[in-house]
Amino acid sequence: MLKKGASLVGLGQKYGIKHRKKFTQVHAILKTKRKCPDCGSFRFGRHAVGIWRCKKCGFKVAGTAYDVSI
Ligand SMILES: [Zn+2]
Repeated sequence: MLKKGASLVGLGQKYGIKHRKKFTQVHAILKTKRKCPDCGSFRFGRHAVGIWRCKKCGFKVAGTAYDVSI
């Protein structure tokens, strides 16, 4: 869950508090700095839904939509 006083990201004033909180939570997980399992670079992130890639070495791995693994 979100910490008390944490600011919400995206969506502005739309969609209601429940969905904005959920979006913030998912967004934080999506944008977490990740280390490439192959070269150790931090430029590892989601390339497309379910596809995670390292921008440095091109290492590709399948994952879930918003996280590398469940
Ligand atoms: Zn890499």
